[in-house]
Amino acid sequence: METTIRKYELSASMSAGDVLLQHLRGVVGASNVFSGSEIEERYRSDMMRKYSSTPLCVVRPSSTEEVAKIVQVARNAKIPLTTLGGCTGVVGGGMCLQGEIALSLERMNKIIEFDVESMTMTVEAGVVLQRAQEEAESHDLLLPLDLGARGSATIGGTIATNAGGVRVLRWGTMRDMVLGLEAVLADGSIVSSLTKSLKDNAGYHWRDLFVGSEGTLGIVTRAVLRLRPLPKSAQTALLALNDFGCVPQLLRFLDASFAGQLSTFELMWADFYEFVSAAQLQQRQRPLPLGSAVYVLIETLGADVGRDMELFERGLAEALERGLASDVVIAQTERERANLWAVRDDLTEAYKPLFPLAAFDVSVSLKDMPHLVDRARSAVQQLYPCATMLFYGHAGDGNLHAVVKLDPNDAAAEAKVEGAVYECVRDLGGSISAEHGIGLAKRKYLSYTRSPAEVALMRSIKGALDPDNLMNPGKVLPDSQTH
Ligand SMILES: Cc1cc2nc3c(=O)[nH]c(=O)nc-3n(C[C@H](O)[C@H](O)[C@H](O)COP(=O)(O)OP(=O)(O)OC[C@H]3O[C@@H](n4cnc5c(N)ncnc54)[C@H](O)[C@@H]3O)c2cc1C
Repeated sequence: METTIRKYELSASMSAGDVLLQHLRGVVGASNVFSGSEIEERYRSDMMRKYSSTPLCVVRPSSTEEVAKIVQVARNAKIPLTTLGGCTGVVGGGMCLQGEIALSLERMNKIIEFDVESMTMTVEAGVVLQRAQEEAESHDLLLPLDLGARGSATIGGTIATNAGGVRVLRWGTMRDMVLGLEAVLADGSIVSSLTKSLKDNAGYHWRDLFVGSEGTLGIVTRAVLRLRPLPKSAQTALLALNDFGCVPQLLRFLDASFAGQLSTFELMWADFYEFVSAAQLQQRQRPLPLGSAVYVLIETLGADVGRDMELFERGLAEALERGLASDVVIAQTERERANLWAVRDDLTEAYKPLFPLAAFDVSVSLKDMPHLVDRARSAVQQLYPCATMLFYGHAGDGNLHAVVKLDPNDAAAEAKVEGAVYECVRDLGGSISAEHGIGLAKRKYLSYTRSPAEVALMRSIKGALDPDNLMNPGKVLPDSQTH
């Protein structure tokens, strides 16, 4: 009886925030709830250092059941939640806007089951991509998703953003690798369909709705991932082309010649190649001379080391004979392969002089890609005649990336450059987001790619699954009064 009275007195003197923290500590333990100055910098800003915000608190659950209880606590207190994976997202999706609870899944990092026979692995959402890749490799299998942020990005985050990367051409995006899913909904209930089957047409597939929903519909807690046989051979080359016009034909020709083994086709415009390879000259030689219009990094992955290289060399020789490429260098060792990849992948140091920058991730048909580059270049040059602009991308899947160095003395530069580039994308019928998602950064441009009917449908789905707008509010959908 005495204990009960003391508890009541304590609660009465506590603020609503303190009561909330007490409830959260009751779910995950005091050492897994951080507030105020305990909140580390990594929870406060995104990888690009573009956004920063301070969550009300950071909570680190260790199981699906704990996630469900946290959602119930948040729901009772009417406090929204933002889910955090590896915080490598580049569109501000993981930013807490309104003093929200940041739900970090970093402790949910168990590989639950590895099933070699069905070629699947079942993992918790906080498992880091590279660890899942390495686990698959240790069983002679491949998790095909691969991207530069592999060392920090999580399975949950890559599902929530439907991540793409450098092998989409052959194995698709994350959506194509997710067989089963478990999630916690906004009302605190758990939905689970951890199937290992490729085929499952029993009604609406809520799984597909969650892939790419950026934490706005619920929290992904576990997934069953589809794996492939581990390739035994990798053949890598860099090609130079005098004219973009040859690119679609080169892609078709190589895809047919390599009998389904072409896994990567990464395009770099001359300005990108010159800038990045110049920045890396102290570490490595430029693999091909400057002076070509575009450069293409290609890779085939196969099962027969000798035969695959023969096929690769034959295909490339024929591409040269046909005039589809003007020069080529083939990696002969792992070190040379890493050097070729570095020009496309090792951008962190090279990009440093470009800050502040605007980064773009858009898609159009391959046929329209050179038009998009020309239009975007001239639209930006009209605003800023001397702006540095670099174009590159996962061109095999119509995905163009661009970076534009912004004028640091013009506070409106980013908005002006973004508006100009996204108008070009809209006019060519493209998508303002190929693989990074919408998050915070692109929501005001959603109508450039999605019709009013599509946006209305998205709002209905959000309203049905999250009527109190507690799941990552303010992301993906534009404010209803403006669009
Ligand atoms: C160097 C670098 C290279 C990159 N290359 C690529 C690339 O090639 N292709 C590509 O697609 N992306 C790329 N990205 C972007 C980024 O890595 C991906 O978007 C990645 O999928 C984000 O995973 P994450 O775990 O870091 O998620 P976070 O950044 O933590 O979160 C991203 C979004 O997902 C939500 N979320 C996270 N976890 C969950 C969950 N369990 N349930 C529900 N919602 C969740 C968050 O709320 C947020 O909206 C790159 C980023 C960097 C820094």
